[in-house]
Amino acid sequence: TATLGVMGGGQLGRMFVQAAQSLGYRTVVLDPDAVSPAGAVAHEHIQADYLDEAGLARLAAQCDAITTEFENVPAAALERLAQQRFVAPAGAAVAVCQDRADEKAHFQASGVACAPYALLRSDADLAAVPASLLPGILKTARMGYDGKGQLRVRSAAELAQAWDELKRVPCVLEQMLPLALELSVLVVRNAAGQVVSFPVQQNLHRDGILAVTQVPAPAASAALQQQARESAARIAASLHYVGVLCIEFFVLQDGALVVNEMAPRPHNSGHYTMNACDVSQFEMQVRALAGLPLPTPRLHSPTVMLNLLGDLWFEPGSTAERSPDWAAVLALPGTHLHLYGKTSARRGRKMGHLNITAATAAEAEAVARQAAALLGLPADW
Ligand code: ATP
Ligand code: MG
Ligand code: MG
Repeated sequence: TATLGVMGGGQLGRMFVQAAQSLGYRTVVLDPDAVSPAGAVAHEHIQADYLDEAGLARLAAQCDAITTEFENVPAAALERLAQQRFVAPAGAAVAVCQDRADEKAHFQASGVACAPYALLRSDADLAAVPASLLPGILKTARMGYDGKGQLRVRSAAELAQAWDELKRVPCVLEQMLPLALELSVLVVRNAAGQVVSFPVQQNLHRDGILAVTQVPAPAASAALQQQARESAARIAASLHYVGVLCIEFFVLQDGALVVNEMAPRPHNSGHYTMNACDVSQFEMQVRALAGLPLPTPRLHSPTVMLNLLGDLWFEPGSTAERSPDWAAVLALPGTHLHLYGKTSARRGRKMGHLNITAATAAEAEAVARQAAALLGLPADW
């Protein structure tokens, strides 16, 4: 049997492995940790650092094709593997997604508008920041996620202070935009250049972390959704990207569509596809990697996804871990629980997600609100 490898052992790797196994592949995970969500379900787990030559050699020797689930895997590791095996997405494409400066340059080269921004790498850059970018959000160019490595600034003085706080690493200052809503799109492209996309997601974040995804997107017009899918396809094509790519968009209060950022992998906002589409984002990643056909995914049920963060594992104000009352949630119709098998909960840690599907969007909405109430989650969407 053919073997597929994945760099990274988190929940995205776990769900990729499960999809690969269901299509009959053997799976190997490389992750630095002895115990990981993906390593626990893969046929084999190689415990090694991402740049460890012996580990990479073992992974390449065992696999026919290799992907990544971890956005910050060193591009050099992917390039090393690509000397021996088919690797998708390629190190060069992943590298663009790892640096906000390169990412924004790529958006502009693809003809897709992003927030007005300036790069901050020197005192001269700091002094030259135009006042029109304030108030703004200062973001580290590399390694940020879930809103980490970001500070909101209102004035030049606050900007200088914020940059000090971020240790003066290379940063991007973005103008703070008046958002009406946030969308994301999953595109899938194969080595032959075929591109398909999934239905557009509407996302709500709490404290910088994805909380709720709704599909169909209730507040985005068909024309806007079409524009998002076309922009996403353009971005993937100009990157020569192979695999699943997620593009996040802002819709501004005046209705304009602006690209925010992208992730070179299946995405948290795409977990709804597991129960609401006829093919999941993880199966599409397997298909793109294995050179299998890429049919256009179809949404068969309106859906709401609730992210399940570690906070739910603690009584308010307590440090003792408990398990949420899943039986009560699963008594509701159309609920699909996905837990990632993490051994301990932490506040803000992604522990799982709950997909709710129904015959109509109104029904999915109503059940999602009941589930949220049972779990003690706000119904603010
Ligand atoms: P992720 O976990 O999605 O990778 P991240 O840490 O890379 O998140 P961003 O997506 O850049 O962070 O920003 C997080 C959130 O902050 C956005 O989803 C949006 O709600 C808000 N935000 C970011 N940039 C802007 C902006 N320029 N104007 C207004 N709001 C913004
Ligand atoms: Mg990000
Ligand atoms: Mg984001």
